Amino acid sequence: MSGKTVQEAFRAYVCQTSAAPLGLDVIRAEGAWVHTRDGRHYLDLLAGIGVNALGHAHPEVVAAVREQAGRYLHAMVYGEYALEPQARLAERLAEVAPPGLTQVYFTNSGTEANEGALKLARKATGRRRFLAFENSYHGDTCGSLSVTGRAVYRQPFEPLLPGVTFLPFDDAGALDAVDDTVAAVIVEPIQGEAGVRVPGGEFLPALRRRCDETGALLIFDEVQTGLGRTGRLWAGEHWGVTPDLMTLAKALGGGMPLGAFLGRPELMATLSCDPPLSHVTTFGGHPVCCAAGLAGLNVLLRERLSERAAQTGARFREGLRRIGGVEVRGLGMMIGWELESAALTARFAQEALAREVIVGWTLHSDRVLRLLPPLNLTDAETDLALDRLAAALAAAL
Ligand code: PMP
Repeated sequence: MSGKTVQEAFRAYVCQTSAAPLGLDVIRAEGAWVHTRDGRHYLDLLAGIGVNALGHAHPEVVAAVREQAGRYLHAMVYGEYALEPQARLAERLAEVAPPGLTQVYFTNSGTEANEGALKLARKATGRRRFLAFENSYHGDTCGSLSVTGRAVYRQPFEPLLPGVTFLPFDDAGALDAVDDTVAAVIVEPIQGEAGVRVPGGEFLPALRRRCDETGALLIFDEVQTGLGRTGRLWAGEHWGVTPDLMTLAKALGGGMPLGAFLGRPELMATLSCDPPLSHVTTFGGHPVCCAAGLAGLNVLLRERLSERAAQTGARFREGLRRIGGVEVRGLGMMIGWELESAALTARFAQEALAREVIVGWTLHSDRVLRLLPPLNLTDAETDLALDRLAAALAAAL
């Protein structure tokens, strides 16, 4: 080793993705708390951008990781062997999935899940076009980026997939653009990076109807909203809408890298033939990640954490409204807090960090803070968070 500190090695050797990374040097994390080498203890209201829905390093997840690591790690490329952790997690997901979506394809990440869903939609329908929504975010590989609704992120990498049309989000009147040339419409039921946008009551049911009329498949990207985050196990439940395909990641692995797309068996069967092996992955559904995911899902269901997220989220949003800002949006523990200006939002984030609270930003909106706390945040932690956020805003103003 070079004698560099971790900070120095991070800056020198780890490819940087922005000019101003948070750069916390984490030595331990558990529950809602992140501990750093400089002796600070942060209350984490971002939870790895929604990954740590059960908090950091949940003991049952850690035990499952240890146990599976003691048995076997990678055994074979995805889809060839009947791996117990994978089969059992798929089975458990099928039991609780939106009606009919009982088959699962496991991936390594959210973007890979969306890639798979888009490819499947083309192959299943024989159509080529996709519709997506302005200010959406679906991932950074080329297919997912093609359906991400911000030109500034797409342009440096063009040409991307042809035949993608973007529609305004939450505008049922625009849905006539869905026609019988469209393979799939991909949508986040609640837009995350757009600044936490919850659609009105009509939009998603109207989209479902339009897809049914035209034969376009409806893909719900529940990478951020899924698994209890919004106060229901799946965000689509808020509107009583079931998609044809649903993509997951983030919280799915309990802190380990795991994504998935789910669909009806007859649709998912498209991937097994003509030609076989046309969509495969080496590491997708890794046994250790699936063991972690199953342990995490069992905790989530047993402890009814979606209901808990609904209650704590309501309390949190109420508290934020009392503190100030322009608007508090969201459902459950997916919360967007819009402040008066981008400059204030940036100052606020600094002040929050100085008070040992981690909050997030959104890619597409520089005036919106994003909070994705662990779903099992205690009432005491919620109150502490609100106290610190109030102090941070007062200091930033
Ligand atoms: N879809 C949504 C809605 C997301 O929020 C994200 C990640 N922020 C992704 C897809 C991409 O997931 P990943 O980073 O695991 O590829």
